[in-house]
Amino acid sequence: MSVKRRAAISAVVLLCVFGTSSMLFADRIGLWTANDHYSTSSSITSSIQDNSTLAHENPQAPSDNNTNGTRPGTRTGDSPSGEPISSTGADSTRDLVTRQDPSALRCISPPRIGTAEFYDRRINQLVRPPNAFLFDIRYADDTALTIRVHPEVGPEAEARDLATLVAEGVGRLPSVLRRGILRVGILDGDLLAQADGGGEGILLHADNLRTRVADNRLEETLFHEAVHTSLDDRYRDSPEWTAAQQVDGQYLTAYGRKNPATEDLAETALYAYALLYHPDRILEAERAAWQQRIPNRLQFIKEVLPPADNDPGAGITDCP
Ligand SMILES: [Zn+2]
Repeated sequence: MSVKRRAAISAVVLLCVFGTSSMLFADRIGLWTANDHYSTSSSITSSIQDNSTLAHENPQAPSDNNTNGTRPGTRTGDSPSGEPISSTGADSTRDLVTRQDPSALRCISPPRIGTAEFYDRRINQLVRPPNAFLFDIRYADDTALTIRVHPEVGPEAEARDLATLVAEGVGRLPSVLRRGILRVGILDGDLLAQADGGGEGILLHADNLRTRVADNRLEETLFHEAVHTSLDDRYRDSPEWTAAQQVDGQYLTAYGRKNPATEDLAETALYAYALLYHPDRILEAERAAWQQRIPNRLQFIKEVLPPADNDPGAGITDCP
């Protein structure tokens, strides 16, 4: 089995899927390299070696064991621990990053037609359709990414519509999160979103993406995945973060509690961000309860994740 193949299979092991059947996202998958191929970079290689400690969580399989690592002083397991939220993915009631927030999106290129690589979990294979739609996206803060749409999703107009939705949503994230996203892939189907931990990519499925848009939850999905791409490698195992977890001793989401080493940062970051910068979007009673559960992690997020300062500019143009 080739190294690349092993990396791809390992990537499936890394998937951490969560949410409910109507919303949905997930996480880590193999890395895309600069020339659109999955990489066997050190982070994925280390994941291969460490995959005995990682597993995906399927929202339809609540009996999944906690295999995503434990941390001293933190509660884990499946027993109820009073978390106010099941998971970011399952939370369809709170609109914490809204469609009205300014987007830094500046331009979208006309699609290039070319070969693009996707890991297709429906068949557990890498696929390389030669006629994918490739959109180059740029933002006001000089961040940039490429959105690749599998031709199975539909004709060019549909590919562009979905790419635009995603590009705008990414534009509403704070720069710190956007900087780690180099690529977004869109496949057909209704699987959960996922991201790699090497700071490179997010993979979405078109039907699930449309559902998230209809539920006003696309930005929250992208936020969570962007924490994986942009902050995980730097912070999730840092002494400061793990100490904050231990001192707090409680979690905001059950998903974070079950996966303290791999998901708690992404889970906590969204709600901490809303507490810090958009408290008006949270019910007063919830604000107090959340702050009481995670005071140290709240301070940590404040230090590493400044508020979005996105310039909406004069509108979207065609990138040259
Ligand atoms: Zn996640």
